Amino acid sequence: MFKKILIANRGEIAMRILRCCREMGIDTVMAYSEEDADSLPVQFATESVCIGPAPAGESYLNQEALLSAAIAFRCEAIHPGYGFLSENADFAEKCEKNGIVFIGPTAKMIRDAGNKQAARSLMKKHSIPVVPGSDGILENWQAAAEVARRVGYPVLIKASAGGGGRGMRRAYDENEIRRAFEEAQAEAQSAFGDGSLYLEKLILNPRHIEVQILADRNGHVVHLGERDCTMQRRNQKLLEEAPAKVLTPRQREAIHKTALRVAKAVHYESAGTVEFVFDQKAGTELGDDGSEKNKFCFDREKKSSFYFIEMNTRVQVEHPVSEMISDVDIIREQIRIAAGLDLSVQQKSIQLKGHSIECRINAENPAMHFAPCPGEISFVHFPAGKGIRIESAVYPGCKVSPYYDSMIGKIIVHAPNRLEAIRKMRGALAELTIEGVETNVDFLYLLMFNTDYMTGNVDTGFLEKNAEAIMNWDQESRKFSAGKS
Ligand code: ADP
Ligand code: ADP
Ligand code: MG
Repeated sequence: MFKKILIANRGEIAMRILRCCREMGIDTVMAYSEEDADSLPVQFATESVCIGPAPAGESYLNQEALLSAAIAFRCEAIHPGYGFLSENADFAEKCEKNGIVFIGPTAKMIRDAGNKQAARSLMKKHSIPVVPGSDGILENWQAAAEVARRVGYPVLIKASAGGGGRGMRRAYDENEIRRAFEEAQAEAQSAFGDGSLYLEKLILNPRHIEVQILADRNGHVVHLGERDCTMQRRNQKLLEEAPAKVLTPRQREAIHKTALRVAKAVHYESAGTVEFVFDQKAGTELGDDGSEKNKFCFDREKKSSFYFIEMNTRVQVEHPVSEMISDVDIIREQIRIAAGLDLSVQQKSIQLKGHSIECRINAENPAMHFAPCPGEISFVHFPAGKGIRIESAVYPGCKVSPYYDSMIGKIIVHAPNRLEAIRKMRGALAELTIEGVETNVDFLYLLMFNTDYMTGNVDTGFLEKNAEAIMNWDQESRKFSAGKS
């Protein structure tokens, strides 16, 4: 096992990795920016090293500084967390060349999965359902229009290099295709330096369902069940749950099996996530090609209802919900895999139990389109108790920096069933107190009483459509719901 690991990230995920290393008896070197000199992970790491000024491009994305630090401090491995360099194949390759283990998959696997269009083609070859759409990179908007005519509107034009919800545009009819194409291309070019686009049919009112995978270097692959990440705003997840209640047992088994096939198709190793869009349109049976076969099919089992969209080759923000229901420590497995060890679990020994929900706590103002609100936190009180888990790096007096993500922590609850998990989350959110910066805590609390959320009558557009109604919920109905629980 490694003796010392460099942590190339910040905030809650840096704390999460650090705690795991401590349990495993591994020393840590915290690489931090000048902005984060007083941060919690810097105080708790075995050693720490400043790698540059506040802007991520000069610090957390500074490959040379990170590598030099790892070499100077004699670290055997680097954990990249999520975001930043976690899906950067060039960085993984540089680590490999310098004899430092990148805790994640190989550079080749990151490249294979990171190019979304190439991944889509590969999955098609392995008969894994993908959203009906184009067969390669689209040369121009006319090519996009031709594919759209074939698969039918509405369609989604997507950047092959895309991530974080960027480089994507919808077109509802022929008149919109040129604009959608040009906008997506411009955004992809500026965000990723690569304007290659492909096209998928836009699945209407879908859910986002993903499967957590663990694969070691010795050919063992397991899944830790699925997560429902349908609650998104600005294409970013806000709340995640496991399991996904919308799936029937047969659909659940099928999606797990498909995710394992995806992992095997790319010869994956490390922790990873296979993402799907789930078509919940009642009454429509879909053919193998994803086209509508029978408009009046009421047998949910018969629908070919999920499609592969992409694979994320890193640990995800929402990994704790899978840990809660499976009792497997994903970061620990990730480190073990990188050290060449076998998975410490087998599929048959993994039992998925109860229901888990995660809420992302952001320094943002829901009333201002969820705009980030950096500042100084003057007071914090975290909830606690059975089945309540906090992942955060904030403390009274700390700064929420405008330079980085506005996510300042996560509350994860675990209970025997979904309703009890919702009740536990209500209690936890009611108790959570953060002063000094605007947060989305009250918004999340109100969401926990929303009837559609509670009954699962939601899709990926739900939050955007209902944010205002949730915020303006009058005291009366709030009390009524609260009284009922
Ligand atoms: P997850 O599925 O793990 O929740 P997110 O899409 O929320 O993934 O991304 C996790 C983190 O990575 C966020 O902080 C987000 O800002 C960042 N991120 C995601 N994609 C990119 C990208 N292409 N470039 C830079 N940062 C990204
Ligand atoms: P990113 O790499 O930015 O995460 P994804 O391909 O994972 O991009 O898509 C981001 C989100 O967009 C998904 O979570 C889903 O909600 C939505 N989405 C993606 N593809 C489709 C599609 N074909 N139809 C409907 N919604 C989609
Ligand atoms: Mg995605």
